[in-house]
Amino acid sequence: MEEKNEAVKELKEKLLLKRKNALHNLTDEEVAECDRFCEGYIDFMNKAKIEREVVAYSIDLLKKNGFVEYQKGMKLKAGDKIYRNNRDKAILMAVVGTAPIAEGVRLCAAHIDSPRLDLKQNPLYEDNELALFKTHYYGGIKKYQWTTIPLALHGVVVKADGTRITVTIGEDDNDPVFCVTDLLPHLATAQMTKPLAKGITGEQLNILIGSRPFKDDEESGSVKLNIMNILFEKYGITEADFISSELEAVPAFKAKDVGFDRSMIGAYGHDDKVCAYPALVATVDCNAPTHTVVTVLTDKEETGSDGNTGLCSAYLEYFIADIAEDLGSDGRTVLSASECLSADVNAAFDPTFPEVNERNNCAYINKGVCVTKYTGARGKAGTSDASAEFTGRIRRLMDKNNVIWQTGELGKVDEGGGGTVAAYIANLNVDTIDLGVPVLSMHAPYEIVSKVDTYMAYKAFKVFCED
Ligand code: MN
Ligand code: MN
Repeated sequence: MEEKNEAVKELKEKLLLKRKNALHNLTDEEVAECDRFCEGYIDFMNKAKIEREVVAYSIDLLKKNGFVEYQKGMKLKAGDKIYRNNRDKAILMAVVGTAPIAEGVRLCAAHIDSPRLDLKQNPLYEDNELALFKTHYYGGIKKYQWTTIPLALHGVVVKADGTRITVTIGEDDNDPVFCVTDLLPHLATAQMTKPLAKGITGEQLNILIGSRPFKDDEESGSVKLNIMNILFEKYGITEADFISSELEAVPAFKAKDVGFDRSMIGAYGHDDKVCAYPALVATVDCNAPTHTVVTVLTDKEETGSDGNTGLCSAYLEYFIADIAEDLGSDGRTVLSASECLSADVNAAFDPTFPEVNERNNCAYINKGVCVTKYTGARGKAGTSDASAEFTGRIRRLMDKNNVIWQTGELGKVDEGGGGTVAAYIANLNVDTIDLGVPVLSMHAPYEIVSKVDTYMAYKAFKVFCED
């Protein structure tokens, strides 16, 4: 009997796929390593909430680690570390490998924009002696989630004379915050009968920013005047300057450990900074790689990747062509031989909403970084669908290097779906696969990820860059 059980056990081990919690496969020291890595991530999340701040943080880190700003025509050699800043909203970086560039690059891509409330170009108004900002939401949000939470304001204002003012208000403990108000339940009888998508409309996402009138003025509009006066004193800006501004209202929450066991992280904008940070650090940590490593942290993914800082533009292609030529090859040869980990978050299984996922093919918290062969909606519309061969190559690479990973697609068939930048990179004739960290409450003001999964994303990039 015992012998028979042993044989069945062996057969199971040999033939069946296991999807284990990573914590059963890691030593205490390895878990501590994941936690240490995430301390750096939490610090990053509190310093870099919007794309411009991620670019500034990245340039600072890259410079400290020997990266120099790339100029076309540079004499490049193995081991050189370079970066190119795309309009302060996206960044490219590379570490030149020892192999000829014609053998292709190892490309890591992630996005650094997150859903938020952008100010309209003429945002400031006063209504019944309250001052408010009109907003236009950016990316896919559930609008009701953005009411009654503290908001901070980040971005830039370009003044009439062309000078650029950087704004960050609401993050320091001494800063004020802002807020979108909501109706009290006592008077929400009509609102509460509406479908969730219509309970709060886009035009109701108005941010409350002040209530005191300008001193000695009883004219209407003096609360607005008082706000403009404060802004002029602090930043030297006038109302017309909003027209040439990019101001983003984001949750004022700090990134923090979640759970009694501190196993998770809650923060605004894990999508997709929880992939961008590991990709950035893995690139910095990558010394003398065989293949040239190129990492791109891009903007505009949440609105469809269009525009000159999004990955539908040619900026990635131009960068690779430029370094290819400096290293004696050409862009199309290099791209055609390249491989890409297109890193974006995936939906984690949520036991409170199990009905949207198919349990054998979804991602789980703590089961490692998630490799997704295809994305898309309905009949895989909009996906690049990695080949079996390339998927097999990534599978071998992860297993050989003890990266804990899982596979998962975004929800049940026909439940919804989504895509990311993978298709735009694959369209450049690059072997591309999606990889990322599972997230709970994706696109909410406060999203949750696992520390172990976050570290495994770093490890995946590291082994890919060094392979
Ligand atoms: Mn994303
Ligand atoms: Mn997203």
